[in-house]
Amino acid sequence: MTKTLQSLLADVKAGHRLNEKEAHLLFSVRDRQLWDVARTADEVREERVGPAVTYVLNQNINVTNLCVNSCGFCGFSKKQGDEGIYFHDRTEIQKKAALAKSRCVSEICTVSGLHPAFTAQSYIDVYHWIHEAAPGVHLHASNPMEVAYAAKKSKMSTKEVLIAMKEAGLGSLCGTAAEILVDSVRDKICREKIPTAEWVRIIKEAHKLGIPTTATIMYGHCESDADRVSHLSILREIQDETHGFTEFVPLSFIHMNTPLFRAGTSRAGATGREDLLMVAVARLFLDNFKNIQVSWVKEGIKMAQLALIYGANDLGGTMYEESISKGAGAVNTDYLDPKEMQRVAEDMGRPLRRRTTLYELM
Ligand code: SF4
Repeated sequence: MTKTLQSLLADVKAGHRLNEKEAHLLFSVRDRQLWDVARTADEVREERVGPAVTYVLNQNINVTNLCVNSCGFCGFSKKQGDEGIYFHDRTEIQKKAALAKSRCVSEICTVSGLHPAFTAQSYIDVYHWIHEAAPGVHLHASNPMEVAYAAKKSKMSTKEVLIAMKEAGLGSLCGTAAEILVDSVRDKICREKIPTAEWVRIIKEAHKLGIPTTATIMYGHCESDADRVSHLSILREIQDETHGFTEFVPLSFIHMNTPLFRAGTSRAGATGREDLLMVAVARLFLDNFKNIQVSWVKEGIKMAQLALIYGANDLGGTMYEESISKGAGAVNTDYLDPKEMQRVAEDMGRPLRRRTTLYELM
């Protein structure tokens, strides 16, 4: 196997495009073979994007945690009657947006629960309020599930919703709600969410309308390596067709407070080996993506630092407030000071650079 792995990695460095079987092999490596995969992923990263570690100064605003869905991996959403429900009105959203502007963020990010009363207009209103209070800030908002929900509630097509969102100042769409793009897994973890084909259709629709998106995977619950490979394969095919993804963001499952884990349906998240391999295999398999982000919110800053030599080139955003991973049981998820990002990047021998949402260096 060592020889096979070595020659496969040499082929990848020479430009070979990994097939699904080969990606599966890479996900299975253990012990010091991890270093071989890491070295190749790091070299490919260096060739593709250079040494800089990037980040975005951004602020998160979650409008509400009330949600009509009940995803098994979600520790954030609430139902009517639960304790701790919040819903931010115009005044509160604009206060948060103005605060973000005063902090000189270049991006405001907003995703929320699927509020029972939301329509397409609700999303449009939120975008207008944010732009009013924070003019010039890039709005990275909503995801394909929210687009589908808005369309259903307002009897519009998803294309019409996306056009209206773009007109209201949507700069880029979040590529979340992807979870694992395999319907048999989605049936177990998020049955009410849009199926794989719908997620793919909406993402392509956004790209074709000139709305860039991120790409994500949420792994470490009850999916197999084969499911992870299918997911990456779908993302690579979309990117070949549209070139609309700005980055790939692996999101490691935070299990503690989730119904899935409590019911014994999932395992206790990915291991460190799996987290690092997810970054490395993504770097090698997604040969049409420039940017692979490691999420300090999910990984913690020390693991995020290690991922920088497994193929990652981006540390994501400063956030300022975060409630989705916190709701699932993660700690210290609210804010990461760029000074700390600089400390860990430079400690790895790499420079830190601030970027825009669309990866222009600032
Ligand atoms: S993941 Fe999103 S859609 Fe699913 S329950 Fe949580 S907030 Fe609702």
